[in-house]
Amino acid sequence: MLIPGIFILLRLGIQIFLRSPRYDEEALLVILLALVCGLGGYMGGAPLFWSVTYSSTLGAYLLFRTAHTIRVPARNELGVHESRLLTWPLRIIGAVFVGRLIFTLTGGVGDAAPLFVDTPLNVSLLVVLMTAGLLTHLSLGLAVAMRLVQRLHRLSRQDALTALPNRRAGDEHLARLQKRLNQGVGGYAALLVDVDHFKRINDELGHPIGDRALVHLGSCLQHELRSVDLLARYGGEEFLVLLPDIDASDAEQLAERVRQRVESSPLRLGGRQYPLTVSIGWDVARAGESTPALLARADAALYKAKADGRNRVCRSV
Ligand code: GH3
Ligand code: MG
Ligand code: MG
Repeated sequence: MLIPGIFILLRLGIQIFLRSPRYDEEALLVILLALVCGLGGYMGGAPLFWSVTYSSTLGAYLLFRTAHTIRVPARNELGVHESRLLTWPLRIIGAVFVGRLIFTLTGGVGDAAPLFVDTPLNVSLLVVLMTAGLLTHLSLGLAVAMRLVQRLHRLSRQDALTALPNRRAGDEHLARLQKRLNQGVGGYAALLVDVDHFKRINDELGHPIGDRALVHLGSCLQHELRSVDLLARYGGEEFLVLLPDIDASDAEQLAERVRQRVESSPLRLGGRQYPLTVSIGWDVARAGESTPALLARADAALYKAKADGRNRVCRSV
């Protein structure tokens, strides 16, 4: 009875970890079956092959079924190879139980003996079970570590306030686009978007409202962008927009649309409206240049937009 019970617990743990379907009714049915078979066999004084038959059948069923149900969720979250590492040891243990069942029923490899009796079949079973069990534990540990690494990777590239990609993610994407450009694959443009007089918003309305204004601005900007564009929160009230596969005139039009969208979308709070505007400095990337060089040009253009009166789009000269 312990054998199916242990495998049900193992399956439950993996299913909870992977947030995969649970099939609790089925698990309950297997436990009931194990109880009936176990108690029935004990009270009826059933021969050994009876207990081997039902425990091996239920054990093998549970292991194959577990491997089958976690295959897709494990592949989606951890990857193809990791999913195999998790499911194959379970299948191997399942196969061991099927083997034990067959040997017992056919009377092969010596007579059936309780697991604690030192027969060649039991010793081989033990070695395979221990190896596959160890593999199962190692792969479960690997799955936990991978989830932590993935979560860290995501968090380290996400801005905590706006949930947009942060500066690190923006810089990484910028480096990728520049590499493509250097290989002659496609050009891109970079926009630096800075909120005008943001300090006043904080000073007059308070920091929490300033925070809400930044979240609101993030969604305004995102609205005007294409699915291939990247919007990152680059600094306090500064955003970086990367526009792949675009020429100068389309980039300028898009920057202007972004500016207009912010101008026409004031922050609405408690029946009041707070107007917001942004200044945008931008330029198209050049093959062979460094990414800081492009950002320096966009920054110079942003500085000019501010000096010329704000709420405007300027290209680097
Ligand atoms: P300018 O038009 O020249 O850009 O003026 P500005 O006031 O926007 O620029 P300045 O650099 O003087 O001020 C930026 C302000 O942005 C100062 C800082 O308190 C605020 N800020 C930066 N990060 C955050 C944030 O996460 N939340 C809030 N509420 N404010 C922030
Ligand atoms: Mg600024
Ligand atoms: Mg500003």
